[in-house]
Amino acid sequence: DTQDVASGDEKELRAPICCILGHVDAGKTKLLDCIRGTHVQEREAGGITQQIGATYLPAENIRDRTSLKAETAIKVPGLLVIDTPGHESFSKMRSRGLSMCDVAVVVVDIMKGLEKQTVESLHLLRRHNVSFIVALNKVDRLYGWKECTNAPIVEALKKQSDDVKREYKWRLTKVVTDFKENGFNTAPYYENNKKKKVVNIVPTSAESGEGVPDLLLLLVRWLPDIITDKLAYDDTVECTVLEVNEHKDLGTTVDVVLINGVLRQGDQVIVCTKQGPVTTIIRDLLTPHPMKELKAKGAYKHHKEVRAAQGVKIVARGLQYAMAGTSLIVVKPGDDLRQAEAAAMQEIDMAIRTTDENEKGTKTQEVSSIKTCKEGIYVQASSVGTLEAIIAHLKSSSVDIPVYAWNLGPVYKQDVMKASAMLKRKEEYAVILAFDVKVMPEASALAAESGLKIITADTVYRLVNIYTEHIKGLKEAKKMQFAAEAVFPCTLKILPNRVYHSKDPIVCDVEVVEGVVKVGTPICVFTPSKDKSKNIIVHSLGRISSMQTSNGNQIFSARNGVVAIKISGDSPQEKSRSYGWHFDSSNELVSEISRRSIDVLKECFRDEMRAENWQLISRLKTQFKIA
Ligand code: GDP
Repeated sequence: DTQDVASGDEKELRAPICCILGHVDAGKTKLLDCIRGTHVQEREAGGITQQIGATYLPAENIRDRTSLKAETAIKVPGLLVIDTPGHESFSKMRSRGLSMCDVAVVVVDIMKGLEKQTVESLHLLRRHNVSFIVALNKVDRLYGWKECTNAPIVEALKKQSDDVKREYKWRLTKVVTDFKENGFNTAPYYENNKKKKVVNIVPTSAESGEGVPDLLLLLVRWLPDIITDKLAYDDTVECTVLEVNEHKDLGTTVDVVLINGVLRQGDQVIVCTKQGPVTTIIRDLLTPHPMKELKAKGAYKHHKEVRAAQGVKIVARGLQYAMAGTSLIVVKPGDDLRQAEAAAMQEIDMAIRTTDENEKGTKTQEVSSIKTCKEGIYVQASSVGTLEAIIAHLKSSSVDIPVYAWNLGPVYKQDVMKASAMLKRKEEYAVILAFDVKVMPEASALAAESGLKIITADTVYRLVNIYTEHIKGLKEAKKMQFAAEAVFPCTLKILPNRVYHSKDPIVCDVEVVEGVVKVGTPICVFTPSKDKSKNIIVHSLGRISSMQTSNGNQIFSARNGVVAIKISGDSPQEKSRSYGWHFDSSNELVSEISRRSIDVLKECFRDEMRAENWQLISRLKTQFKIA
């Protein structure tokens, strides 16, 4: 269909390849049915062909099903939708399957919001840099929804009652917030002005078809603008194996997705097998007859050549050990066969490695992207996806929480031992955040014994929340423990005619000149020394034992103004010091700080200290000759 392909000097684009992801029961299969037009009227099903493991929708078909005007150009010839939900091999291939897709539709049940597998999909997509659209499905479940079969969503929403609109808004906002928590900015597409940066949400009903035209339009109109270069048609063959089949009449065949280029009968190709690269010749290229189910019996359509993007079944010898998710490489006359085989070998290595690692349920190569550091918490999750969700959440939470180490699968004693390193280094990081994994009894026991905390929760959000609350609790406890040693800095001026008691306890009115004065603060005065080697002497007077405002109210702390203070001495020396004899109103009263008191402030009371308080500390440090 050249009519839909933009003419002139613009690049020729191929059909984008789309997959559908989401939590179980979100409606992936049903939405796929809807998109494939299994639901649409016979008349409207025009041109849709079922490919191998995929469905091809020509641009014309999409135009017919949407309100798009005839003169509006569609830059791509059509859309190839991978039959993800039905296609088990796709989910087995995981990331390798995903990397052949140009775009994903992430289905979210509007009544349930983001669920575990949704979040996993999101992080896979982010890792592979695949653009996506959110189908906020099952809008017809909103209480009182008026059905508007296959209508564009804005039209359908207009027809709804205020109650439905309100519920819709509320649920939409919740989903947007959920996405935000996972590090994605989203917006309903009809209000989205930053389509390159903000992910589009399309409300849909896979039941009655509302919003499905909008979704299709975004896929063929918005997407090509975003990933034009990726969609440029290229003669270089790019082809991924979906699965290997044993066919009664044809023998072994492989189903592939042809992403770019052309495959022809008679092409020499290399397939990746566990035994190494296998070179063979394409004998036949097959697709099912239009609109027939993939599994349906009956003859296939034979092709001399197939042009991307399409799903196709290849008949050739030596295919039985081909590995799903690997490339099929075409060797053209004049190509260096050795070089092509070496490329295949490299892919085989990689595929075997990732498969093994996936099967062991341990690290996949991609996880190395998680940054760890010497001091931080320990995170443990059931899958790479959830692990990444937690880490994204830790990063976006108000406090930036570093990660020391992570692991997948149940929490064992070894994990506790490793995480316990933080008990000595930084107590607040001595935790394991465990999400959706079992904590083995020996691990809990060891943690309880050593003082390591294991936090579990049913959502990532709660998990991180419990941790931040835990830190707050720790901080408060520490403050209590060290309160007696903390000395907040202050300087006070004695009001000369308002000294009520000159000797232990000293009682007088003072003006708070700098810093913050608190009950419990040790107070001293400086006097010049007669001994030339020491230029000042520090005289401790005792601690402030109580404090009052001018109208007689008891207070515990003051940052300015005039307050009455009582200073009670501890030692005989302190008790002996008296106003008028050892010091007078020309002496400044100063909080008596020490190296230790400064360390305690730094360690536990940072949140109560202001910048000017630190400045005062640094000035007093020189006066007290503290290093
Ligand atoms: P999958 O597991 O994601 O493939 O989900 P399915 O497509 O199998 O759908 C799960 C259930 O939800 C089925 O009973 C569907 O009929 C139902 N369902 C899916 N989409 C919608 C929708 O838009 N509206 C309503 N009311 N039900 C839906």
